[in-house]
Amino acid sequence: MIAHHFRFLVTAETPIFFHDFKGSALRGAMAGYLKRTYCPEWRAEKTEPLHQALCPICQLLSYELAPEGGGDIRRPFALRPPLTTQNVFTPGESFDFGLTLFGNQLIYFPYLVLAVQAAGEDGVGVRGENGRRGRFRIARIDAVNLLSGATQPVLAPGATTVQTATAPITHEDVFQAAQALKEQLQRNAMHLTVEFATPLRLIQAGHIVKEAAFFPLMKQIVLRVLDLCAQHGEGRPDIVLKRDIFPAADAVSPVADETRWWDVAGYSSRLGREQRLGGLIGKATYWAENWDALLPWLVWGEVVQVGKNVVKGCGVYQLS
Ligand SMILES: [Zn+2]
Repeated sequence: MIAHHFRFLVTAETPIFFHDFKGSALRGAMAGYLKRTYCPEWRAEKTEPLHQALCPICQLLSYELAPEGGGDIRRPFALRPPLTTQNVFTPGESFDFGLTLFGNQLIYFPYLVLAVQAAGEDGVGVRGENGRRGRFRIARIDAVNLLSGATQPVLAPGATTVQTATAPITHEDVFQAAQALKEQLQRNAMHLTVEFATPLRLIQAGHIVKEAAFFPLMKQIVLRVLDLCAQHGEGRPDIVLKRDIFPAADAVSPVADETRWWDVAGYSSRLGREQRLGGLIGKATYWAENWDALLPWLVWGEVVQVGKNVVKGCGVYQLS
């Protein structure tokens, strides 16, 4: 599988007031525009399987058909919300966020750019005294390799032409990053720290996981990567969790848990109700004698995010 990440730098044109979780507001504004503009079935309660299979907007946002190969439905993108704690932006101030596309599916990219532009024109966040949400314009777009840091300009400041530059994240990048991480771990007594930058919400056996246990985290990362490979990549790799992953994940011990539960609500227009987006944030440190079987998966997880609501920006983490 490969992934393409695009970073959007936007500048406020009128004051923007965000709630606590900016990802939900950005995703909501983008999704609303895409459905209204490109999906003729957006008002329908139930859409035909054929429409769902062909409509790029339904595939991006609300595809409901169970995958043929089993597993969970995985959207072809994830959102990396602005990681700043700043929630109010005055005109002229900028912030950035990212969108990651999974598989070689750049076909969706123009829709995402138009959606970001429309979200900026319609406005995002809380309505101000004039009844309008804060507006922004796109200042620049870069294709970014999240692992190597390589950056390619896609839309330069002031330009109106979008370049077809990409900076794909490949298996090769993941193995290189895993190797670099392994060397770091050896210098650090095999202690691995995972920093959860946005809420991590994992469901294990029907229950929400409220502490930073390693096993459910590892399991969900692997399941997600396998589903993404099956649904958006070149097919599901031949991995048997019980043989290839679980023994190594079981051998990982917790060292320090500095996470806390962050309860935050968002609105789901698809479900038509408020939705809990809360999850764990902060850092947790783990130890294992041998991380080799797990590192490439953990690195892929850094790229693809993990847990519930990744399309709204949840499940972003960094390894160190
Ligand atoms: Zn549709």
